[in-house]
Amino acid sequence: MNQSTDRLRDVLIIGSGAAGGAAAAHLSAAGHDVLVLERDPEERIKPCGGGMAASVQQWFPFSLEPAVEQVIRRVDFSWCLEDPVVAELPGEAPFWIVRRERLDRLLAEQAIQAGAEHMVDVEVSDVSRHSDNWEVTAKDGRRWRSRAVVIADGSSSPWPQQLGIGARKVQTASTMSVRLEGQGTLEDGTTRFEFGLVKQGFAWAFPLAGGVNIGVGSFIGNQDADPESVLAKLLPDLGFEPDAGMRQRGQLRVWNGHHRLDGDGIVVVGDAASLCDPFLAEGLRPALMSGCEAAQHLDGWLKGEQRDLRAYSRAMRMRWGDSMAWGRRIAQAFYRFPGVGYQLGIKRPTAPRRIAQILSGEMGYGDIAQRVIKRLLLQRG
Ligand SMILES: Cc1cc2nc3c(=O)[nH]c(=O)nc-3n(C[C@H](O)[C@H](O)[C@H](O)COP(=O)(O)OP(=O)(O)OC[C@H]3O[C@@H](n4cnc5c(N)ncnc54)[C@H](O)[C@@H]3O)c2cc1C
Repeated sequence: MNQSTDRLRDVLIIGSGAAGGAAAAHLSAAGHDVLVLERDPEERIKPCGGGMAASVQQWFPFSLEPAVEQVIRRVDFSWCLEDPVVAELPGEAPFWIVRRERLDRLLAEQAIQAGAEHMVDVEVSDVSRHSDNWEVTAKDGRRWRSRAVVIADGSSSPWPQQLGIGARKVQTASTMSVRLEGQGTLEDGTTRFEFGLVKQGFAWAFPLAGGVNIGVGSFIGNQDADPESVLAKLLPDLGFEPDAGMRQRGQLRVWNGHHRLDGDGIVVVGDAASLCDPFLAEGLRPALMSGCEAAQHLDGWLKGEQRDLRAYSRAMRMRWGDSMAWGRRIAQAFYRFPGVGYQLGIKRPTAPRRIAQILSGEMGYGDIAQRVIKRLLLQRG
């Protein structure tokens, strides 16, 4: 069934996750006519640990705290469930755990309050350019037209390749996530990172209010992480049954090079733009950063103050990509020799503070990369 298009919108946003929600909230607050198209008919538990630096708050004029369930003060590391390292996080770079579906809803609600239209149960199946405008078609035949499009449909987005923006060849981490009721032995305000059990990756446990998000991620190589057997060992260590919880497997796009993230009236943001940190799987901060940054440049472009959207790609390269280029090199060195990485990286007294500073954005990987890579490569020989 083909349905006729309605009025020409300023912006169509495909996907109502962290990146799309951030763009929608800012663009609608700036007075633009925004329509958000979301595939999921209702809220679902997303495979996301919800760990996020509190510093992202500075990019929003409204409070994100309704989505925050824990403030992290302590990080426990282990190697094959042993050799523990406990790190108290420095107070000046607080780390939050958000309930992910609540964060997405909060952003969508802010956008709606500011005037955006938000439609669910819309699976976008085509995005194409017609003279000066974009046309977006849903699987059920509905169509919309706009001056600009924000591609924010996450790690399985086909549009970057089809439209020639973002990464042509994607690199993914394979992940498994579990949401559990009850906290087991995990204490409030404490996160756990386990290295050693996971080949070329790590496992994490992040506390929620009355629950835990557990994840297993494998970042390089053939990614034969065998997450079920990792969980069978890790869950009892955290006070749960080895087969507890519903498991969700996924492929998470990770950063794999500098790419143009804009085209003619179109930008790609978040996981669709392959922004996720290839070392620590941090994807929420770049999703929010890119959504906010894209909104700012689209605002200028829609008002005729900017000729094109190249400045968006440049800004993301400077604010995020330059650090990820080093993060990628660190990931390649660390995950090839994770035992060495654990002994020489994680067990260093300064490591937890550095990790907290990187996750908060206070430091980039470039600030520590030379020393870390040299240490990992020299000690191996
Ligand atoms: C197991 C796991 C744990 C993680 N833990 C963390 C963590 O603790 N901290 C962190 O910073 N990052 C974490 N990440 C990464 C983080 O979840 C992602 O980087 C983040 O979700 C990216 O947000 P996004 O808005 O780009 O994409 P998404 O959140 O995936 O949103 C995309 C939206 O688009 C919709 N959509 C998809 N296709 C269509 C379509 N055709 N039409 C319309 N809508 C569509 C989807 O339904 C979805 O709502 C984790 C990832 C995984 C897999």
